[in-house]
Amino acid sequence: MGKTLAEKILSEKTKQDVKPGDIVVSPVDWALVQDTTGPLTVREFLGLGLPKLANPAHTILFIDHAAPSPQKQLSCDHTFLRKFARDYGAVLSDVGEGVCHQIMAEKYARPGDVIVGADSHTVTAGGLGAFATGMGSSDVAAAFGLGKTWFRVPETFFIRLTGRLQKYVTAKDIILHLIGSIGADGATYKALEFGGEGLSSLPVPDRLTIANMAVEAGAKVGIFPSDDATLEYLTSQGRAADHRYVAADADARYERTIEIDLNKLQPTIAKPHTVDNTATISEVKGTKVDQVFIGTCTNGRLEDLKLAADILRGKRRNPATRLLVAPASPQIVLAGMRMGYIQDLVQAGATILPPGCAGCLGVHQGVLGDGETCLSTANRNFLGRMGNPEGLIFLSSTATAAASAITGVITDPREVA
Ligand code: SF4
Repeated sequence: MGKTLAEKILSEKTKQDVKPGDIVVSPVDWALVQDTTGPLTVREFLGLGLPKLANPAHTILFIDHAAPSPQKQLSCDHTFLRKFARDYGAVLSDVGEGVCHQIMAEKYARPGDVIVGADSHTVTAGGLGAFATGMGSSDVAAAFGLGKTWFRVPETFFIRLTGRLQKYVTAKDIILHLIGSIGADGATYKALEFGGEGLSSLPVPDRLTIANMAVEAGAKVGIFPSDDATLEYLTSQGRAADHRYVAADADARYERTIEIDLNKLQPTIAKPHTVDNTATISEVKGTKVDQVFIGTCTNGRLEDLKLAADILRGKRRNPATRLLVAPASPQIVLAGMRMGYIQDLVQAGATILPPGCAGCLGVHQGVLGDGETCLSTANRNFLGRMGNPEGLIFLSSTATAAASAITGVITDPREVA
């Protein structure tokens, strides 16, 4: 019987003929933590009493969530992580070096890899054809020490993409549409495998955005085959040698197939306070916005800066609407400066934040005031997510966010640009 992509990767890694429901122990190619989960993971690892990391060069500690640190306690957490990286030879990605999932895409993740991280959006690397998933600190600590972990092999939903996105309808709208359709628990512990003829029009940055939010439907992984677009992306990162083609078997057996016609998609919004509380733009346009936030591991890429700059160039943000932009990595900042996107955004009234998670998790750089509304390109809008349970968070694409910054209300980008 043919295998899905997730089954093929786990079969290859474990050297077994795996099927959904099997419990397997798989080697891990990369294990990562970030500065909110890292201290606990490191303490758990130290508690195991193991003398060393299984694979220090593939154990990565990211300081990106509260970076630079806004308070003493978090600064001490950072110090603890830096010392551990020094003592055990782990890779450290320090303040200003970017959001963990973006850096995994740029520097480390390869098609066919198994990646575990103490962060739920580790799934992002599925955009490059990796079986990548978030786990609890104890599991990641064990992976640090043993270089392997256990999985229940997930059943797979196939998401067949057909057609092509219309102008100013983006990958973010695809994944918001999907989550709205199946619900926040609609794919619990499933692999969401994306394919179909529509795939060819989605470059890797779009795939990373989609894979990033697979977990918002409960999925274990969101995964794309690697193809020529993957090769092109890895080549652009100087990593062509990391590429190989991975794909499901032609006769793979899927638990469910979901069709999405890209031609028919509209700009889509997630309303407070759940990601599956979606609406098309016409249902919510006109809603007042106090803050627009463009960035995060979902939409902080160069393509997002370009899209925002194209919409905002020569215009100004609404005086009542703050515009915060956090590029997801230094590479993106530099390219954004080189291409003039950052200048365009600053001239339009944007505040440019350092590469990192910024206001996404609500500890700094954009905490909402009571009663304020944020339109964010992030992946979560839970109550209190941006640091204030009295605030409201709507999620959208970068195009919708940029257009709304101009008008000060949620706006269909096709009507402004
Ligand atoms: Fe998590 Fe937001 Fe950082 Fe992404 S940008 S890793 S969702 S805090």
